[in-house]
Amino acid sequence: MFNSQIPHNFLTEMIANNTVSSDDPAIDQSNKAYCELLADRLDRLNFNCQLYAVPTHNHDTQPQKWNLIACRAGHKSEQGGLMLSGHSDTVPAELPQWQQDPWQLTRHNDHLYGLGVTDMKGFFAAVITALEQLPQNNHQPISLVITADEETTMVGARALRAEQLCVPQLNIIGEPTSLQPVISHKGYLAYRITLSSKGGHSSLNQQQANCINAMAEIILQLQQLATQLQTMRQDERFSVPVSTLNLGSLNAGDAVNRICASATLELDIRPLPGVESEQIELWLQQAIDTALSCFQVSAQLSPLYPPVNSFSSSACTHSLFNGCQHYHSACADDSYPNYAFANYVTEAPFFEQLGIPSLVMGPGDIRQAHQANESINLLQLSQASKLYHRLLQDYCFQ
Ligand SMILES: [Zn+2]
Repeated sequence: MFNSQIPHNFLTEMIANNTVSSDDPAIDQSNKAYCELLADRLDRLNFNCQLYAVPTHNHDTQPQKWNLIACRAGHKSEQGGLMLSGHSDTVPAELPQWQQDPWQLTRHNDHLYGLGVTDMKGFFAAVITALEQLPQNNHQPISLVITADEETTMVGARALRAEQLCVPQLNIIGEPTSLQPVISHKGYLAYRITLSSKGGHSSLNQQQANCINAMAEIILQLQQLATQLQTMRQDERFSVPVSTLNLGSLNAGDAVNRICASATLELDIRPLPGVESEQIELWLQQAIDTALSCFQVSAQLSPLYPPVNSFSSSACTHSLFNGCQHYHSACADDSYPNYAFANYVTEAPFFEQLGIPSLVMGPGDIRQAHQANESINLLQLSQASKLYHRLLQDYCFQ
């Protein structure tokens, strides 16, 4: 009889392990101890565990990050089987609304609380709970892929190579989807626009050299671009059915009596599948050029991260996806819609690029992710371990 209860002592250790990834070097952490914690558990289940260093963007300030790839070969076949993947890192715990220690797993009523419990340490606890109750003579390969820095640069997923992986029949990415299978999501692009001019004394009234005036003009152009993105393509399967452009932060000027000589604006764009990132970058550059035609200001458009492509699952084009539907209704006994489309990004496009059919389906509510007092529903966590147990049985023991 399968016991779907997640052992809290292991999840307690996972949560206690600080795996914050951040652009701020003061709080950015290595994920090595966390990977070793999981590898130790998987070693005991006869998985072959390999840690791969991923490239860091700043060798002086950034701790070393790792991908953990754990595979248990199949007795009957070296092909196919199931992959379960996700990221090791969490967002920072800087929000003042945290009411308990973010690194201390805490139970209150029917929820567990802790940083990363939903996004996405609970997923790995559910998977390992399932694996520990299956025989070790799987017929097809089982692999777990645990990546670095998904919350910032996605450098871990970008560094994955086909030769490191057992290519499965299906990869399930356990990001929190309330166990709904997500088969498509938007892409992600983030940019900084930096303006500079010679500035001067405010009495000189040189509006053409004022970076605040210039940025205001750029913002007007960007608002037009946002409208253009909304009208050019719509897909009602997404809860936000259009590509979005969001102005996220603005900094400018240093004194009331100076002509503003520098300004920066950061923005992100989440395009629907089918809207190409190269085209978006061209439109952004055009918006800036048009806005600055009358200004004596220089501008630079730079990506904050490499783009993440949108995702449309190749798994949903054949019976695998239907299988997942079947498991889902059998294990999670809710009347969820058939499948879901997400406005956020995951590592799915990187797996698809490696020829690995993927879908996103994990325990926890996305609205809990990246929040203070992050929590997960205990029933959902045990439904998840039941679901993965059943999927592993069918994909790897036939
Ligand atoms: Zn996540």
